[in-house]
Amino acid sequence: MYNHGLFMIRRYIFIALSVIIFSLSTPLFANTVILRKLVVHNTPHQLSATFYLSSSTQYRTFSLHTPNRFIVDLKNVKTVQQLHFPDAAKSILNGFRYATHRDGVFRMVFGLNSSIKPKTRVLSIDSHHQVRLQIIFPKTRHASLPLLPPPVREKIHIKKAIINDADFDQDNKNQRRIIIVIDPGHGGKDPGAAGINGTKEKNIVLSISEILQRDINRQPGYHAELTRTSDYYLTLRQRLAIARQDKADMFVAIHADKWRNTQANGFSVFALSQRGATSEAARWLARRENKSELMGGVQLQDQSHLLKSVLINLSQSATIRDSLEIGTNVLRCVKPIAHLHHNTVEQAAFVVLKSPDIPSLLIETGFLSNPREEYKLSNLEFQHQLAGAIMQGIYQYFSKYPPRGTWVNYWRKHHAHS
Ligand SMILES: [Zn+2]
Repeated sequence: MYNHGLFMIRRYIFIALSVIIFSLSTPLFANTVILRKLVVHNTPHQLSATFYLSSSTQYRTFSLHTPNRFIVDLKNVKTVQQLHFPDAAKSILNGFRYATHRDGVFRMVFGLNSSIKPKTRVLSIDSHHQVRLQIIFPKTRHASLPLLPPPVREKIHIKKAIINDADFDQDNKNQRRIIIVIDPGHGGKDPGAAGINGTKEKNIVLSISEILQRDINRQPGYHAELTRTSDYYLTLRQRLAIARQDKADMFVAIHADKWRNTQANGFSVFALSQRGATSEAARWLARRENKSELMGGVQLQDQSHLLKSVLINLSQSATIRDSLEIGTNVLRCVKPIAHLHHNTVEQAAFVVLKSPDIPSLLIETGFLSNPREEYKLSNLEFQHQLAGAIMQGIYQYFSKYPPRGTWVNYWRKHHAHS
């Protein structure tokens, strides 16, 4: 319930309400207002949807995210005919649905392909005495990307069926769960990268992290925690402290960054490097991500000291080896559903990966600087596929190398050969 509460709060802060009463000259709500038709008009620069109403009424509009939706509520309105979704709208909208609720509010929900900001305006009454309410969906340069085909689903074989919840309840008396701490990058005053259509990294990665958490929590013997559960700022060190506090067996930071080249695309996994970065891009990215620390008021000098301490901490070798192994599993599971930017786990001096004894990965889910990828990452179904594949990679690793004292380890010893 606690998590659910926060979840709700997060949803509601996105809601920008606008309530306007237009035309006070006619008595409001005296009669049911009829929605006579909805006319959709497509031009190179915008898509408009115009509601033709028999008389004036109250309305409100607001946006919701993940997935992106635009909602129009009309008070005391009924429709007399079925409304159709025109093909011409597909470049901007992925559909709409509507219903009249018991309290007389007619609600129409427009599914948006990207996070655009529709505008609402009231047009003058036409020659048929109809009141017209118009929604304008602006077209940005990239908003008219064709709809992506559904990603290919490939079966990834994991022997999930052999462990079930009943087994877990039976023998978990003295065994602990494997703890995975998921760190949605950025947050609050640090939005992270931004896509050309306005998608913010901090929102995308929180959504993917929440799905990943639910996926992991469904596995018997596993428990996942988030470092942040809504839109607020955490320093990199606070994130590390949470992983330590939760006694994490693994830490995974989720990001979606940008690159100078808008063509750059694909999924990548990073582990800590004790020496140099494995590529110039990895070095550049680590520098970028480490900057988040500066926003918390840490001095540059302190920052370089932190980086130095990363480089000299030799006790991390074993942890890095484990991180690389988990990362390899993740890449293998993600490969069937997403393009890999790099086929192997890359390494660089990410501050957020510097826990000396907790295997840690930083996952770049894709590039928000690539409009096609921005669009894909905003898609809830793709987010689910990605989270599912990441979960499977982690699961495969821990099935093979379960930490001591965990139920998965106990189960493996007692059931593996029976
Ligand atoms: Zn990031």
